[in-house]
Amino acid sequence: MNPPLAWQAGVVEMAFAEMYPILNGRRRLRDIERAVDELHGRAAMMQTGLLNRLNQSWQSGPDCAPGCDHCCYVRVHTTVVEAVRIACYLLEAKLPADLSVISEQIDSFCEIIDQVSGAAYFETRLPCPMLVERLCSVHPVRPIPCQTYMSWNVKACYDHFISNMPSQIPKLDAMGQAIGPLAAGLSRAVVESNAGPAWVSLPHAVRAALFPGALKEWQSGHDLFRSCEAPLSPG
Ligand code: SF4
Repeated sequence: MNPPLAWQAGVVEMAFAEMYPILNGRRRLRDIERAVDELHGRAAMMQTGLLNRLNQSWQSGPDCAPGCDHCCYVRVHTTVVEAVRIACYLLEAKLPADLSVISEQIDSFCEIIDQVSGAAYFETRLPCPMLVERLCSVHPVRPIPCQTYMSWNVKACYDHFISNMPSQIPKLDAMGQAIGPLAAGLSRAVVESNAGPAWVSLPHAVRAALFPGALKEWQSGHDLFRSCEAPLSPG
């Protein structure tokens, strides 16, 4: 991996400075939600700027559209705070019936996925458990790794998907380079405040956070997310 450019290092610092005091303090959920939303807002602005530049030189825009979910079969590794944001969103925004559907999907996903390793993951053809009727149920707060997926060639996405190689789905590298440093800054804030591991499996971390009373214990310093640790940073 190349060392970060100066502006990328600045973005890492900015995300770290936003989140670290919150995690090192009382870990108030409202503050975490506000900070994650603020950083996601910056990610959206960076995406728009990048897309505007690309659309000036390319003939068309991305092929991505609601209901196209090939990239939602990829293992999602994210930061503890983005998983907490998703859990809060599910608890606040969803009707109890929806929440129980998603919770059941998360449970059965984790049960199956915990039995497989390596490339066998893709052979399960299990979608992310946050996917409901081919739409992301947490789209407004989906984590930065998901936001980096953007394709100009939906056929290539489909071909990789049916070949059991969703990890090869074309990603826009420039998007990862633009907004990935935000996730890196959040990850550093989590580690340096002892709030959890650098990267976690999204479904496992959301499941841990949804367990009744678990977030309160985490706010008091309990190591809630240790078992959700993901070995790799998002690609
Ligand atoms: S969180 Fe949403 S966008 Fe990300 S993989 Fe899951 S369903 Fe897809």
